[in-house]
Amino acid sequence: MSECLFCRIARKEIPAAVVYEDDTLLAFQDIFPQAPVHLLIIPKAHCEGLADLTPEIAAAAARIPQVAAKLAVDHGVQASGWRLLSNNGADAGQTVFHLHFHLLGGKPLGGKLCL
Ligand code: AMP
Ligand code: ZN
Repeated sequence: MSECLFCRIARKEIPAAVVYEDDTLLAFQDIFPQAPVHLLIIPKAHCEGLADLTPEIAAAAARIPQVAAKLAVDHGVQASGWRLLSNNGADAGQTVFHLHFHLLGGKPLGGKLCL
């Protein structure tokens, strides 16, 4: 069994505040929120980042923008605006090496490319 943190969250071995789940995707609250709305959307299957997608995980990940748009509505930031981003690798500041997308909103987010 993988010791990866987000694999363990996907297997419900570590608690998380889940806001969306389907067969292949999970979304939950970031534990250290950088904005009033800060969610993480992950494929349940493990891959480190966008360079490591298998066809199956790519098919799941392709639905993440749609899930993010639904979550933006659900969390009240569709009108005010929101950001969806994925950090890949050290220079991008990736700290958890299981592919994930941050959904941020609820305040002006500052620079267009950085948190
Ligand atoms: P990144 O720096 O892009 O790899 O993002 C990893 C994110 O995971 C950070 O925003 C962390 O706050 C978040 N995080 C770390 N541990 C947990 C956890 N147990 N539950 C929810 N979010 C977490
Ligand atoms: Zn993992």
